[in-house]
Amino acid sequence: MTQVFKFGGASIRDAAAIRRLGELLARFPERPLIVVVSAMGKTTNALEALLAAARGSDDADYRERLAALRRDHLATVKALFGERADPVAGRIEALIDELDRRHRAHAHRERPFHYDQTVGIGELLSTTLVAAWLDEIGLASEWRDARDLIVTDDRYQAANVDWTATAERVRDLDSDDGRIRVTQGFTGATAEGASTTLGREGSDYSAAILAHCLGAEGVTIWKDVPGLFNADPRRVDNAVRLERISYDEAIELAWHGAKVIHPKTLAPLRQRAIPLTVRSFQDLAAPGSTIGDDARRDGEVPALMLCEAQTLLEVRPRDLAFMDEARQHDVLGRLVAAGLHAGLIDAGAMRLSLVLDGHPERLEPLVASLATDYGVTRRDDLTLVTVRHGDDALLRALGAGRDCLAERRNADTAQRLFPSAQCPATWHLPD
Ligand code: ASP
Ligand code: MG
Repeated sequence: MTQVFKFGGASIRDAAAIRRLGELLARFPERPLIVVVSAMGKTTNALEALLAAARGSDDADYRERLAALRRDHLATVKALFGERADPVAGRIEALIDELDRRHRAHAHRERPFHYDQTVGIGELLSTTLVAAWLDEIGLASEWRDARDLIVTDDRYQAANVDWTATAERVRDLDSDDGRIRVTQGFTGATAEGASTTLGREGSDYSAAILAHCLGAEGVTIWKDVPGLFNADPRRVDNAVRLERISYDEAIELAWHGAKVIHPKTLAPLRQRAIPLTVRSFQDLAAPGSTIGDDARRDGEVPALMLCEAQTLLEVRPRDLAFMDEARQHDVLGRLVAAGLHAGLIDAGAMRLSLVLDGHPERLEPLVASLATDYGVTRRDDLTLVTVRHGDDALLRALGAGRDCLAERRNADTAQRLFPSAQCPATWHLPD
């Protein structure tokens, strides 16, 4: 049964990492195996900077950035292939030349279109390298162009998948001839053949799209962390790895601010009950975490999400009027128009409280707009703490010694808002 593996930028950041990737894949002899790869290291950021330079007037800056991309990729080729670098180096050079040509051709087009014709080349570069390296170490591979596989509309930079057309295109991708299929994450193309991208960090989604269309047995995302945790291990000193998580629970955690897998990635997998495992490429013995259909109760382990730099707005109708549904509708409509998400919404008879991410460029116009028709009080520098499956004792302990400025609770989720100044640098989940 088909497996889909996805490797992010960190797992192929340099020659040593690509060697490790080869060693890892050598331990998985089962086929069909489809390998989806992101751009190397921070290449996508570098390509975005190159795009800005191409659209600006500083040609020297553009040339320097293009040269740096060429240099970095060729250095990796040299480190991997040594004397035998020529054929691969030639392909890398050709892709960089193609990138340059595209910048010249598209710099005067709209930015989203220009972006998609150029930034996805990071994945063409990385997969060219990875596929060649697999062949070099005796793991037969076939390089496939994701632009021939994933069909999308022309919403550049956030393209929507045409599922029927994509299913048609990928049909032979899991034909079993013993070769590993290597393809790019993040990219697709319109039916007419214009390159598109699926949004930053879109490679996970690419893996899910292919798995969905092929009815794969599973997807594995190889990361530099040993799995998914019930809290951010950098912020919470006793965070524990979650072994199994249901799709719904993973989506809840992501919604409340956990950096787990994006719901967009999970939806196509959930539809076909394809499990997704997050594993460490540095520690193959570690079992990782699996998101899937799960009979087990989600609530066994409480989870804690922290959102910092939050702003509390309390919006009150003037003249002691009620905050009725019509006014709530008006306030929330302005929130939507401002492009803001409220992590917590709480209504009283004469008040609507909103807890918002501190994006100043979106927040300030919203506050100004609300202040023309409502009384608005505002408080900044707050931390929103969300707990899934916590009991009263845990919530009490988390709030001890802190002013709770807003709260909300339902059967499985509790949220509390505290001044960040009263919050510790490192949290501890009380047991
Ligand atoms: N390379 C792309 C990015 O950095 C896609 C991905 O890594 O998922 O956003
Ligand atoms: Mg990346």
